[in-house]
Amino acid sequence: MHLARFPRVHLAHLPTPLERMDRLSEALGGPEIWIKRDDCTGLSTGGNKTRKLEFLMAEAQAEGADLVMTQGATQSNHARQTAAFAARLGMNCHILLEDRTGYKDENYNHNGNVLLDVLHGATYETRNAGLDMNAEMELVAENFRKQGKKVYTIPGGGSNTTGALGYANCALELVGQANDRGLVIDHIVHATGSTGTQAGLVTGLKALNANIPVMGISVRAAKAVQEENVFKLASATADVLGCPGIVSAQDIAANSDYVGEGYGLPTEAGIDAIRMFAKLEGLLLDPVYSSKGAAGLIDLIRKGHYKKGERVVFLHTGGSVSLFGYLNALTA
Ligand SMILES: *Cc1c(COP(=O)(O)O)cnc(C)c1O
Repeated sequence: MHLARFPRVHLAHLPTPLERMDRLSEALGGPEIWIKRDDCTGLSTGGNKTRKLEFLMAEAQAEGADLVMTQGATQSNHARQTAAFAARLGMNCHILLEDRTGYKDENYNHNGNVLLDVLHGATYETRNAGLDMNAEMELVAENFRKQGKKVYTIPGGGSNTTGALGYANCALELVGQANDRGLVIDHIVHATGSTGTQAGLVTGLKALNANIPVMGISVRAAKAVQEENVFKLASATADVLGCPGIVSAQDIAANSDYVGEGYGLPTEAGIDAIRMFAKLEGLLLDPVYSSKGAAGLIDLIRKGHYKKGERVVFLHTGGSVSLFGYLNALTA
């Protein structure tokens, strides 16, 4: 694996810090908990999509694109980070936002990520839930192409093999930090959605032969579906990295016990996790992703799945901007 062989725009603030969470570890009385701060990757407050976009936007530039398109849920962090990248690189950005929650309130529809999309100069249109959003995006892209635009489309969450390279890069960075400080990592836990993060991370860890298991806490799909989707993308990413076959199905673990009623619908355990991280560590999670990931981490520690003497890294994937879109859920 030699990532310099792939086109990349170096805009992320890397390496992100790796910090110990002393007060949370003490409160839970289990393993030593560390946090990999991918909420601090830069560009419009950062988050996990920034690493993927370094590779995706380089491809857009190489193709001579003047318009970048992507899609996501109303409060998509990926859309916001794409809009910021496009602004920084002097490209136009058009987004399709899917109404997955049916929320009518002003903050959900116009504050948080949506506000920042607009501030970065992106334009957007909305769709009702349940459509094939990547297909919808391609239809809109065709129209722009007919008008003479050079359009580069990015799938939801930036999750294809190009985007996943960003998380193979994170594996390299994290293992390097652990090596430098003599930290043996026993487990990595993070929120998983469109799969690029987990697929890239697992593939990178396998390429390094790091022997660190990764647990993806699902925010949407059932365990079996999520594992299958992560496995498919990880396998394809391994091919692109020149090490086909290094990822096997047993390397992929997802847990869908913390989804709650569905994507984008906050859970009580998630909101508890938001308050816990905020009050014990001064850290901000988000209602859609990282809080559900943290709820899984906390519950699995309480159930003894992660034990005293072990060291667990929680990969913070960002998203705190959407706190402002979920004012109602947080102040109720
Ligand atoms: C997109 C996102 C995730 C999930 O990452 P995937 O690569 O889509 O699986 C997790 N946390 C936050 C904050 C995100 O925006």
